[in-house]
Amino acid sequence: MRKVYLDHAATTPLREEVLEVMLPYFSQHFGNPSSIHWYGREIRKVVEAAREQAKALLGGSSGSIYFTSGGTESDNIAILGAAEALAKKGNHIITSAVEHHAVLDACKSLEKKGYELTVLPVNQHGLVSPDSLAAAITDKTVLVTIMHANNEVGTIQPIKELAAVARQHGVLFHSDGVQAVGQIPVNLDELGVDMYTISGHKIYGPKGVGALYIRKGVKVRPLYHGGAQEEKVRPGTENVAGIVGLARALELAVEEQRSLADTLLPLREKMIKGLTALPDVTLNGHTSLRLPNNVNISVDRVEGESLILSLDMAGIAVSSGSACTSGELEPSHVLMAMGLDHQTAHGSLRMTMGRSTSEQDIDYVLDVVPGIIERLRAMSPLKGEGGKQNVQ
Ligand SMILES: *Cc1c(COP(=O)(O)O)cnc(C)c1O
Repeated sequence: MRKVYLDHAATTPLREEVLEVMLPYFSQHFGNPSSIHWYGREIRKVVEAAREQAKALLGGSSGSIYFTSGGTESDNIAILGAAEALAKKGNHIITSAVEHHAVLDACKSLEKKGYELTVLPVNQHGLVSPDSLAAAITDKTVLVTIMHANNEVGTIQPIKELAAVARQHGVLFHSDGVQAVGQIPVNLDELGVDMYTISGHKIYGPKGVGALYIRKGVKVRPLYHGGAQEEKVRPGTENVAGIVGLARALELAVEEQRSLADTLLPLREKMIKGLTALPDVTLNGHTSLRLPNNVNISVDRVEGESLILSLDMAGIAVSSGSACTSGELEPSHVLMAMGLDHQTAHGSLRMTMGRSTSEQDIDYVLDVVPGIIERLRAMSPLKGEGGKQNVQ
């Protein structure tokens, strides 16, 4: 059976070129970068070179890269760390309704501790408006965190404009760029962000490693205590192989971003055109301010979970909403924030393409999906007159 992986927003396969540069750091180059002797000094150089390379690749000349255990930890250090460092200045933080749970839940944990939280709404395409951000900022606001590109619907936020609003008010701006890197151009100096999150395994690098960019002068209180690694922003012996892999993956992702986008855009358009031509299938998200690899649709009168299982049986790996929420019964918070009703949100499907996706894969999907939808609709309790209304 044909196997088609269309879940690159959940994770990507480690590239051969990345594995190759990582392997020596699991064996012969085993030193602890904090050691003073030769074994350590040699590894310290490697870690620092990876840091400088990552910084240059992201265009963040006015700050530093701190290596972490992944996107989730970077988001938490940025949000909890910055809010706590600025606790004397104010206790108000702002985020958006479509953030990844790593951001939303970190913000909610601050709210439980007595911080005031504003969750900005989005329009039907999932976009946050810079005007709504400006209106939400008060003299107590210390941090704004809004993602660069959405992991469920692929909507690309106007980060430069949003960051400019925060800067005008003297408020720190963090962005989760986990889905943006490698898919759209990213230049941190141009974006004007104070902090930016990336993750290894979303860019064909290893799992369990990520980075947080922090602009010079921005203070964050560490979440953990221990050694002085990563300037105490993230203590603990460095994941050297992971760091080497992350830097190489980032290098390849940035080098190949344009050509990957050029390959995926026509495939995305072909898939969207083919799927939305089917009866009662609609596109979620923006038509153009959208990641080149993302297709997210709602299929009326069908459960997203049933669609996933049927597609899985046909060898096609997709997801509904984010990987973290699939399996839960709650509909996607992203789709709900975009104004979809419960049932339409439940009937949603996310397909995210990647480096290995071919036109034949798309043809195969377009070949099998209509039959699956038809069969599921025939069995569905949601079918028939007023189906939309009589199911809650
Ligand atoms: C995957 C993802 C994360 C979490 O990154 P991990 O490295 O898996 O912890 C955070 N934000 C977004 C937008 C993501 O897609």
